[in-house]
Amino acid sequence: MVSWHLHSVQGLSYITLPEWQKQGLTVAITTRTGGFSQGEYSSLNLAFHVGDDQTAVLSNRELLASVLRISLADMVCACQVHKANVRIVTEADKGKGVFEYASALPETDAMVTDCEGVFLTTFYADCIPILLFDVTRRVIGLAHGGWKGTMAKIASATVEVMRKEFGSYPQDIKAFIGPGIGGCCYEVDDGLAAQVRTVFGKDSRFLLEEKQGRNYWYLDRTNFFILENAGLHHQNIGLCGMCTRCNQELFYSYRGSGGRTGRFAVVLGFNKR
Ligand SMILES: [Zn+2]
Repeated sequence: MVSWHLHSVQGLSYITLPEWQKQGLTVAITTRTGGFSQGEYSSLNLAFHVGDDQTAVLSNRELLASVLRISLADMVCACQVHKANVRIVTEADKGKGVFEYASALPETDAMVTDCEGVFLTTFYADCIPILLFDVTRRVIGLAHGGWKGTMAKIASATVEVMRKEFGSYPQDIKAFIGPGIGGCCYEVDDGLAAQVRTVFGKDSRFLLEEKQGRNYWYLDRTNFFILENAGLHHQNIGLCGMCTRCNQELFYSYRGSGGRTGRFAVVLGFNKR
C-alpha cells in the first residue's frame, strides 16, 4: 500500500506520498489551486504549450518550486507526445524545458534518473501519472500514460529501463498511479474498446465496463495491471483513484473542459543530501 495525502502550503494544494518523502524524495502532484493563471487556465497551470500567458506559467512554476523548497533550475521538463519513449535524465538535463518550451526534452513521455537534486516534471489533464521508486537502488521513474501510452505500455517500458540500465529488481519498485480520468467518465468508441480487448486479452473484462451499450475504460486500473505484469508486487502499487473529470475544481480535465485548459504537474526527485 502506498498512501497519499493532500497537503496545502501558501494556498497551493498538492498530493504527496509521506513514506517516499521520508526516504529523501520530493513528491508533488499539483492541483489547479493557488496560482496566477486566469480564465480556463485558472489558476496553477504549469504547462507552456497550452496557450496560457507564459509569464503566468513561469510565475506558477516559481511558486511551486519555492513551496517545494527546490530550485526551479533543477527541474527537467519534456515535450510529451503520447508515445512510449523513456529517457534517462542526468545532471546535464537540469533546467531543460523549465524556462521555455523549446528546450524541453524532445519526444519524451517518461524519464528515469538516479541523480540527486534533479527533479523530473511532467504535465497532465486526464492522462495518468505513473510514479516509480526503487527503494534499494535509489532510482526513480515518472511516466505520462494517456490512452496511447497505456496501449504502448509506457509503465512497463519505464520499469524495463530501470531494470536494464540501473539494475532494479521489479519487486523493489514501489509505484503510485496518480489522478486521471476515471472509468466513470472515460467513454471510448467501439474501435478503441476492441483494441483494449486485443492488447489485454481476458483481463480486459476488469478494465472495460459497458453501460447502456457504451464502453468505459479504466486507464488507472490498466496501468496497475501493466505494472503487476512487469513484476511489481500489487501491495507496492498505490492508486489515487480520483477522477480528474469528476473533480474539475481540483484538477484540469481535457475532456471535461472541451480541450482548452491548463495542466497540473508531477514533480519527483531525490533531494540533495
Ligand atoms: Zn469521473
